[in-house]
Amino acid sequence: MAKRKLSKQQQRRIASHQKNKIKENQQDKKIQLDESSTQTARVISHHGRQLYAETENLERIKCKIRQNLGNIACGDYVLVQQSLNNVSNNQAGSTSNIESQNVVIAVKERTNLLVKTGFAGVIKPVAANIGQLVIVTSLLPKPNPYLIDRYLIAAENLPAKALIIINKVDLLDAETKKTVKDLSTLYENIGYRVIASSIKQNIGLEEISDALSNITSILVGLSGVGKSSIVKTILPKEEIKIGATSESTGEGKHTTTVSALYHLKCDGIIIDSPGVRDFTPNNNSLDEIINGFVDVRKFNGACKFSNCSHQNEPGCAMKQAVTDNKLSKQRFENYLRLVNEFNES
Ligand code: GDP
Ligand code: ZN
Repeated sequence: MAKRKLSKQQQRRIASHQKNKIKENQQDKKIQLDESSTQTARVISHHGRQLYAETENLERIKCKIRQNLGNIACGDYVLVQQSLNNVSNNQAGSTSNIESQNVVIAVKERTNLLVKTGFAGVIKPVAANIGQLVIVTSLLPKPNPYLIDRYLIAAENLPAKALIIINKVDLLDAETKKTVKDLSTLYENIGYRVIASSIKQNIGLEEISDALSNITSILVGLSGVGKSSIVKTILPKEEIKIGATSESTGEGKHTTTVSALYHLKCDGIIIDSPGVRDFTPNNNSLDEIINGFVDVRKFNGACKFSNCSHQNEPGCAMKQAVTDNKLSKQRFENYLRLVNEFNES
């Protein structure tokens, strides 16, 4: 069948429809279960009809998935039932063994779900129950505030906390020093924590560990900013080995069994996988955009005209806030740019 090219608006509609379906799916799954024969585990990595999960005792178990459970993502809490199966172990089937099998029978309600929009607007779950989005930027490639703002929108709408890291500060010169200072001031003024770091010179790593403790985080940002380097530095040695060994078991050509959920020395958890690293923010509605700008949204609804486009109208509360230095000009311009891009798509 010929592939039909969908307009951005059609893709958005499909994406929004699918998001609702995922939500409905979750509602349906709130069934009464006999929890005595089950245990709760957290999904570490997932492929097809099989997943690896971690029990409350931090034991890693392999599980099959009962049919029709809908989407399951790394970070999901699932109910696992141990079932005993009679398995014939010779061709005539004359002798049999009892084999125990872990089966995922339900997905627990999520606090949030990060999704990715793929080809033709198909939504793919990436990670669930995320506490914090860590936006990693660096001095090389240069920090891009517009991209940072788009990641912040994703964090605010999940909802999840956001942390900004400016890595590679060992490359500081007079110009980049100013860049780091300006970025830090801008985002700290609106309530986000900003950490300047260098993996090469061991700067800011304690602060990063502190910000990642007791929470589930994902690291996002452009390729080359230092995400893998940061993760490697803050992971205990055993965790790095777990990732490496499971990668080499290679069960089937397309099976990815790489551990994607890691425990940090500081008691935090990082979900890291190619899917998470590829995540690029995508806005599905004007509501998401305004909700994603914590500083701009304070002035939403305060303009003279209720349908104010915040461009040239008199009595615009947002423009006035910029004039009064109560709102950053750069953030306001990025907000307008995103709204315009959304309306034009
Ligand atoms: P990722 O694509 O975001 O995972 O980035 P990587 O962790 O693979 O890092 C990309 C490159 O930047 C590698 O060559 C790293 O050695 C280098 N790098 C990472 N952190 C630093 C740092 O703090 N300072 C400098 N100068 N280079 C770094
Ligand atoms: Zn206005």
